[in-house]
Amino acid sequence: MMRSDMTRRAFMLDLGRGTLAVAMFGVTAIACSTDPTTSAAAVTGSTNPVTTSPITTSPVTTSPIAPTAVAWERVNLGFVSAYVLARRGEAVIVDTGNPGSEDAIEAGLESLDLGWSDVAHVIVTHLHGDHQGSLPGVMNLAADATGYAGALDIPEISSPRELVPVGDGDSVFDLEIIATPGHTRGHISVFDRAGGLAVVGDALNGRDGGVAGANPDFTDDMATANESIKKLAELTFDTVAFGHGDPVIGNASQQIADLAAGL
Ligand SMILES: [Zn+2]
Repeated sequence: MMRSDMTRRAFMLDLGRGTLAVAMFGVTAIACSTDPTTSAAAVTGSTNPVTTSPITTSPVTTSPIAPTAVAWERVNLGFVSAYVLARRGEAVIVDTGNPGSEDAIEAGLESLDLGWSDVAHVIVTHLHGDHQGSLPGVMNLAADATGYAGALDIPEISSPRELVPVGDGDSVFDLEIIATPGHTRGHISVFDRAGGLAVVGDALNGRDGGVAGANPDFTDDMATANESIKKLAELTFDTVAFGHGDPVIGNASQQIADLAAGL
């Protein structure tokens, strides 16, 4: 159920092996680092100062080495998908599905040889129930995880622990946060530059093996949503993963640029 075909399985296994090899090197490099200046807060503002932001209190540190590509797993919940992203033995869950999705997400973790105790971060792309419905359960199972969402959506998201507001310029676990408002006001996407992977929630949809815009039936502000698509089109990545529809693997950002050109 987690993987729909052998091509994808082979891809995932290859990606996993490559990541493991580099991840082992990464752990060594961290252990050998004695320079305290190489450590920084996990959530850092590269384009805006965050010295007054509560997100600097996150206890997790960014690796002093260049990030490796994440290994990732789609948790196909039928109507919607959640994603598990992993590197260096730690996992990030992006979106949590409707209530009751915890078991499927756990299976996604196990497929990457990880468990709840390895989940350091949970990122919710936006406030809709099919993306944040299992957040309370996930946060309780991933007892050490920090949760994140866009500031404008946080008031409408239930979580047993306070969520950290993130937006442009922030990074979590070496994943860049891209503010992609429109579908909801606080919608965010997640970009792994090292791995060429974007997880875009409902800023885009997968359709017929390609890329479609935000669903107008469920989108607050289509003009703003379209601007967010143009913003995503400025990035370069091979793979895009959606809340709804199959991921596009291979030259994904070009498809988004083509879509954006027609908006
Ligand atoms: Zn939505």
